[in-house]
Amino acid sequence: MDPSQWIDVKEDKFKYQLDHFVIPGHYKDDVESILIPHGLIVDRIAKLAQMIASEYDNERIVVCCVLKGGHQFFSDLVTYMKKALNKQGKAVPMTLDFIRAKSYDNDRSTGNVQISMSEEELQELKGKNLLLVEDIIDTGKTMKKLLELLANYEPKSVKVASLLLKKTPKSCGYVPDYVGFAVPDLFVVGYCLDYNDIFRDLDHICAISEVGKIKYEN
Ligand code: 5GP
Repeated sequence: MDPSQWIDVKEDKFKYQLDHFVIPGHYKDDVESILIPHGLIVDRIAKLAQMIASEYDNERIVVCCVLKGGHQFFSDLVTYMKKALNKQGKAVPMTLDFIRAKSYDNDRSTGNVQISMSEEELQELKGKNLLLVEDIIDTGKTMKKLLELLANYEPKSVKVASLLLKKTPKSCGYVPDYVGFAVPDLFVVGYCLDYNDIFRDLDHICAISEVGKIKYEN
């Protein structure tokens, strides 16, 4: 995807005040600012779904959620893809699959990417059109490793949709096929993105505060 098609979230410009939106009481001291309010996330996903739907016709897609962070994005994307495909009058059956990837402890990449999917499930991907749905690409190492692994199982095609792409000097250069927002080099939480499994129940995408980091540290 051409960078001109991403929404570039700038740290200062997009600093929505916390008290302008509803934040669950249990997180009010744990986030610094709202980077992307929930409504904007959903509107953007509707557009991504339309773009993705326009690229498939008469072919089955396996939409594969990268757990756990990608779950909310996956769920909303599939909902909007169904609508977009119907609107475009296309016959594109979708099957849904799940893969688990873990590389973070606290707010740091461990560099050790663990991917779990059974051998049997991986073998079933042969000859299929895969759409991987991820929450965020940071260094890009997790996705690169996942793509290398999947290539061994000979899918027909593989595309990647990531809701967020972090603008970081630590990037390995990997850029997904579809990107919702390019975000500043901060640790973000909410909309299913977690910090040690906390904040998945926050609707907006927010920058975590120092208080939050310390409170929920492993
Ligand atoms: P990468 O391998 O690209 O450095 O990291 C990818 C994974 O790290 C993501 O799938 C996500 O689980 C986690 N991650 C990276 N940056 C962030 C962040 O800012 N917030 C959260 N919650 N997770 C992140």
